[in-house]
Amino acid sequence: MKTPKLGKAVLNYRHHRFGRCTVCGKLTIFFCLDKESFRNTMICLFCRSASRNRHVAKAMLGIIGEGCSSIADLPGSAVTIYNTAMDDCFSRVLRNYNGYFSSYYKDGVAPGTEISPRTSCQNIEALTYADNSFDFVITEDVFEHVRHPEKGFREIRRVLRPGGYHIFTVPFHFDRPTLVRVDTTGDEDVHLLPPEYHGDPLRGTILAYRTFGIDMFAQLNDIGFETRVEFSSFADRTSGIFDSSVFVSRRIG
Ligand SMILES: [Zn+2]
Repeated sequence: MKTPKLGKAVLNYRHHRFGRCTVCGKLTIFFCLDKESFRNTMICLFCRSASRNRHVAKAMLGIIGEGCSSIADLPGSAVTIYNTAMDDCFSRVLRNYNGYFSSYYKDGVAPGTEISPRTSCQNIEALTYADNSFDFVITEDVFEHVRHPEKGFREIRRVLRPGGYHIFTVPFHFDRPTLVRVDTTGDEDVHLLPPEYHGDPLRGTILAYRTFGIDMFAQLNDIGFETRVEFSSFADRTSGIFDSSVFVSRRIG
């Protein structure tokens, strides 16, 4: 039987931490719901961000500067942001921010179909946004599920303004090349390894096609990105960021 969230919060009380959230900006408690995966938990009491959301926020704030210490502090419509997740902590904090766009993916729904202002159905391999639309694109644990990732990265580069940033997280092997789980060169998936599925809020579970490895940096460079990785440090714990890494990929040219 699954333990309810409140039960998990009680069981893991030793791992809860105080700090200031980089998404909502509040002094808060980060609740540990899963001590085996800090990056996906340590949930902010106010905006319900997880550790990796706050790490993505920190990477963005480092680029934006201008004294912004949280996403909730972003001035006016200073930047345009596209996030491939909807109904998450960024959507909650930026719901009245005109420069914020989000999307979902659902089979059978025409790409570009809006379900609310600035939220539409999108296929990352064929986005409906115009060229040079955004300063930031956020994808969190998405690209391992993209059938043709090179197409997805090229699309993100197309919709980013020159000098714009793709900030993303993916499960990653820092000491190995990409592990290809499924051959996607033909029309049908050919499983090379036992299929691995990850949870998805809309679709239940989705297939992981690969675990990226160090060759991803060269692939991104060929597409026109300069990419670095930021690892969380001990000091980041005061911002509720634990055991995570974020890729910061800048459109060049
Ligand atoms: Zn928060």
